[in-house]
Amino acid sequence: MALFQEIQTPVVKYNQPLGLFINNEFIKGIDGKTFETINPHDQNLIAAVHEATEKDVDLAVHAARAAFEGCWSTVTPSERGKMLTKLADLMMRDIQILAASISLDCGKVFSAAMLEISSSADCIRYYGGWADKIVGQTIDTDAASLTYTRHEPLGVCGQIIPWNLPIYQAVCKVGPAVATGNTVVLKSSEIAPLCVLYMAQLVKDAGFPPGVINVISGFGKVAGAVMAGHMDIDKISFTGSLATGRQILRDAANSNLKKVTLELGGKSPNIIFPDANLEHVMSWVNLGAFFNQGQVCCAGSRVLVHEAIYDRFLDMLKKCTEINKIGDPFDPSTFQGPQISQTQFNRVMDYIEAGKKAGATVIAGGNRVGSEGLYIQPTIFTDVHDDMTIVKDEIFGPVCTVHKFKDESEAIRVANNTHYGLAAAVHTSNLNTAIQVSNSIKAGTIWVNSFGLVSPQMPFGGYKQSGFGREMGSYALEAYTQTCWNAGKA
Ligand code: NAD
Repeated sequence: MALFQEIQTPVVKYNQPLGLFINNEFIKGIDGKTFETINPHDQNLIAAVHEATEKDVDLAVHAARAAFEGCWSTVTPSERGKMLTKLADLMMRDIQILAASISLDCGKVFSAAMLEISSSADCIRYYGGWADKIVGQTIDTDAASLTYTRHEPLGVCGQIIPWNLPIYQAVCKVGPAVATGNTVVLKSSEIAPLCVLYMAQLVKDAGFPPGVINVISGFGKVAGAVMAGHMDIDKISFTGSLATGRQILRDAANSNLKKVTLELGGKSPNIIFPDANLEHVMSWVNLGAFFNQGQVCCAGSRVLVHEAIYDRFLDMLKKCTEINKIGDPFDPSTFQGPQISQTQFNRVMDYIEAGKKAGATVIAGGNRVGSEGLYIQPTIFTDVHDDMTIVKDEIFGPVCTVHKFKDESEAIRVANNTHYGLAAAVHTSNLNTAIQVSNSIKAGTIWVNSFGLVSPQMPFGGYKQSGFGREMGSYALEAYTQTCWNAGKA
C-alpha cells in the first residue's frame, strides 16, 4: 500500500502521508496491515492508512527512548523552544491543508477546522515560549548547605487522543511534553488519522531530531492497549471516554505503574439566570450544545433555565436552532456537519429514541436529516428528570436537555448532579451570583456569560469522573516533569 496519496478537497489539493511516522520517516507497519478511513459527509473511502500493531509500537517506543537518551538530551531548552515555534509557523503555513484534512476525515465544518488549527498553532507557540523558562528553586535550609530543586523530563510519553479535536488534542500533549525535554509516541484515533499524519510531516521540517516525536495510527484495543501496558513508556496522557480511561489506568497499574493523566467526558451545565441578556445567551447556548455536532467533551448538554424566563427562553432557543444550516462541512454557510461515523450516528439516534421512550418532550429536532447520511437535527428535550439516560450520559451529539429551576440553590444542585465535572457556564449580570454559583460548581472550568472559550494559558481538566491532571497552561508542564532536589554541604 502507498505511503502517500494525493487528495483533492474542495479547498486544496495536497499529498497526504499514510504511513507510521517513526524516526522522522513514514514507514509501513511491520505486519503490513492497513485500515480504511471514511468521509462522513458522503461515506466514501478516503484512503487506506497503515496500522500500528504491537511490533510497531515497540519500534516507536524504541525510537523515542533512543532519542531521549541520545540526541534530545543534548539539545538546549532554547533550541527546543525554537523547534516548537517553527512547528507552529509551519502549521500556519499549511493551515488550509490541515483544516481541509480535518473536514474531510471528521466532517468538521471547515471554518471550525481553520479555528482549530490556528488555536493549535497558538498552543504550540505558547509551549515553545516555555521551553527555556522551566526553573527550579534554591531553598535555604541551613547556612552550610546548598539545596535546590530541578524539574526533569519523565522520559518517553505515550499520548492517546480522540477524534473530535484531533490536532488540538495532539498539540495540547506534544507541546508541553517536548518543551520539557521528553520524547513522544502519539497515537491518533482510528477514525481521524489524516490530519495528525500531516502534522507529523511538519515535525521533521521544524527540525526535530529523529525519534523525538513519533506518530502512529491504529486501533485502541491494539496499539492503544500496547502503549498503556508498555514497560518502557514512562507516562500515558489520555483524552477520550471514561470507559477507555478506566482501562488505561488498569493497564498502567498492571505494567510499570507509569504516570497517567486522564481527560475524560463531560455533561456540562449551562445555567441561565433571569437577569442575563437572553439575546447574548442564545448564541452561547447554541454553540455550547451544537458546535461540532455536539461532539465536544465540554458541550453544554444540560441547559438549566430559571422559571421566570423559561417559556421565553425555549421559544428563542427553538428559533435559534431552526436556522442552524446543516450540510456539507465545506459549504461556507454550514453550521453543523455530519456525525463522524455510522457508529456515533447510531449511538446518538439511540439516545434520542431512549429520551422519547422515557417520556421527555422533543421541542426541536429529534430526527435524522433526510433518509440517509450521518446528519442529525439539533435536538432539544424538555420535561426531563434526573434518572433519564439522556440526562445522565454523555451523548456526544447534537442533543441537549433543558431543565427548569426556581432558585440558585436548585440550580447548583442540578448542575452538580452528575458524575462528570469537566466544565459549566453561568449567565447572569449579577457579579455575586456569578461568583457564588461558579464557586459552588464542581468542575474544572466555569465560564461566565460565555461558553467553550479556551486558551493555551488556561489549565483544562476535570473534577470527579471527568479525569485527573490538567492540560494547558503552566500546569501541564508539571504533568510532564518530575521534581528532584539536590543538597550538599560545603
Ligand atoms: P475513546 O475512548 O473511544 O477513544 C479515544 C482514544 O483511545 C482513541 O485513540 C482510541 O483508539 C483509544 N483507545 C480505545 N480503547 C483503548 C484501550 N483499551 N487502550 C488504549 N487506548 C484505547 O473516545 P473517542 O470516542 O475517541 O472520543 C470521545 C470521548 O473523548 C468522549 O467521551 C469525550 O468527552 C472525550 N473527550 C474528552 C476531552 C477532554 O479534554 N476531557 C476532550 C475531547 C474528547
